[in-house]
Amino acid sequence: MITYGEVEKLHCMRAADQSVLSVYAYVPSERASMRELQAHAMDLVKAATERAPDMLHREDELLARRTLAERAGEWLGHTLGIFVSGQLSLLEVVPLRGSFPERAVLAARPHVRPLLAALGRYPDHRVVVMDHRHAWLLTVAGDRVEIVARTSAESLPSAGFGGWYFEQSHVLQRVTEVAPHFYQDAAAILDRQARHGSSQPLVVGGYVDSITQLLTLLPQAVLRDYAGSFAADPHSLTLAGARDLAAPVVSSWAERRECQLVQAVTTARPGVPATIGLEDCLTAVNAGTVGLLLIADEPLVPGFHCERCDVLSVGSNECCDWGAASWPVPDLLEEMAWRTLRDGGQVVSARTLPCTAAARMQ
Ligand SMILES: [Zn+2]
Repeated sequence: MITYGEVEKLHCMRAADQSVLSVYAYVPSERASMRELQAHAMDLVKAATERAPDMLHREDELLARRTLAERAGEWLGHTLGIFVSGQLSLLEVVPLRGSFPERAVLAARPHVRPLLAALGRYPDHRVVVMDHRHAWLLTVAGDRVEIVARTSAESLPSAGFGGWYFEQSHVLQRVTEVAPHFYQDAAAILDRQARHGSSQPLVVGGYVDSITQLLTLLPQAVLRDYAGSFAADPHSLTLAGARDLAAPVVSSWAERRECQLVQAVTTARPGVPATIGLEDCLTAVNAGTVGLLLIADEPLVPGFHCERCDVLSVGSNECCDWGAASWPVPDLLEEMAWRTLRDGGQVVSARTLPCTAAARMQ
């Protein structure tokens, strides 16, 4: 998996023409389908060249195909994003968990909208793992998981990080005694995090009775970010094991949130500043007033960007310069997403969105 910083880094690369090739191909779980995968990827690239004729560099296409052939076997059941540009000396391979819309795009920048969607579906999060006497606080970003702190029944209230202290071991250690008071310590540090503005989803794992005890003590501000729990024996849990058990919990939380946002924006009451449909969303994005932009997964929506007045539009002459400085962009939704993020808004790629785009204003 990739981090937001890495996606941003890809997005900031820019070629002099629309020759950067991005390919997203789903790698089936059965190896026997590899030949079909190659043929399918070629079809995707062909469709991209029809949308942007004369832009594809033959050597970039060959490199993308060779990379897919070499790397696909490592990533069965994943979607591979492959970004190639000889001009930018770029070759990047990004595996995404599960299935994402397949496509190839030729553009001045790497096409990263599916990467943003993947980040939304598996966001950075926190995991608390508990036995009857210890709690470990982990952070997960992409595939990286690390222990931020731990607390235990032996901690003094003033010790270390608010009663928590740093953990060096990568294997959670065995303890057996019961010490109920440390649940308050664990709840207190999570409360403190919430007060300091942390809003990452929170997963709690460990013994079922420990999870229940902690949940009864968590204040509302913490429960707002609570994504769910998993049962496990912390004594045999590794960091990677905790991350893998938390993954489906976080994915389900993200999917529920996605549905709630779609519902809230598309059925907004009169008086709530929201809009549905590409044209109105474009107007709002151009005005810099979008607080939350919902975009559909599938369609590529070609359009234009004016380099003089910065307006994004469906037609080539829809800005005050009458298109004198407008250049085609292969996907307006990608441009709208980055513009919204730049202006401080949120972007969610929503699988259940019944239209191309919808927005709630700031
Ligand atoms: Zn203009």
